[in-house]
Amino acid sequence: MSALDELVVERLAVVRERIRRAGGVDVTVLPVTKTFGVEACWAAVHAGCTAVGENYAQEVVAKLGGIERPFGVHFIGQLQTNKVRMLAPIVTLYETVDRASLVTELAKRVPGARVLVQVAALDEPGKGGCALSEVPQLVTTALDAGLDVLGLMTVGPTVGGPEAARECFRAVRAMLDRLQLSVCSMGMTHDLEVAVQEGATQVRVGSALFGERPPASALAR
Ligand SMILES: *Cc1c(COP(=O)(O)O)cnc(C)c1O
Repeated sequence: MSALDELVVERLAVVRERIRRAGGVDVTVLPVTKTFGVEACWAAVHAGCTAVGENYAQEVVAKLGGIERPFGVHFIGQLQTNKVRMLAPIVTLYETVDRASLVTELAKRVPGARVLVQVAALDEPGKGGCALSEVPQLVTTALDAGLDVLGLMTVGPTVGGPEAARECFRAVRAMLDRLQLSVCSMGMTHDLEVAVQEGATQVRVGSALFGERPPASALAR
């Protein structure tokens, strides 16, 4: 095991303990490896994770396109329709489906694609997601297009601290139950306890496992 492998094993144990203390059972940790090298993906896999989360299409292709991947790749960034084609051979779950045009493109390029519908349960423009009230229609549209809709995903607010996310997480979980879907992807490093308390089945964790990232604004994309 490399030093990074050992570090990630330790940090993953800490994350799992945080989930346990928040009352979580059967909560999957999706390690978010964006901006980190492929060695971060391998460290997560060696620590027992079966998939990684990535945000940027170009980075996904450059980092994971040419290698054998005995692990899943969840796309968790804002998804442009013109990027679906390049992602299709690599991505195993699209977590940020938030509009009908994206459903159409996925159905065309990746028939039967496994997806989550992203919910914007808060007023922060530019972060993606459809309004909670539009979720049932978009889920129906995706199912009609033959996509495999596993559940819902949301990103909590960046301001107001973890408690500010509780209402959003609760509403998303209630919608999940109403639609009888199974995967509820919510909670990140700073608010995973609240997400677990409100019924997350998957938390997406980056910095708690791999350390701080450079600010997104510093990355040319
Ligand atoms: C970057 C990112 C994460 C991980 O964030 P951390 O705060 O580093 O845990 C989770 N979900 C999404 C959608 C992200 O973009």
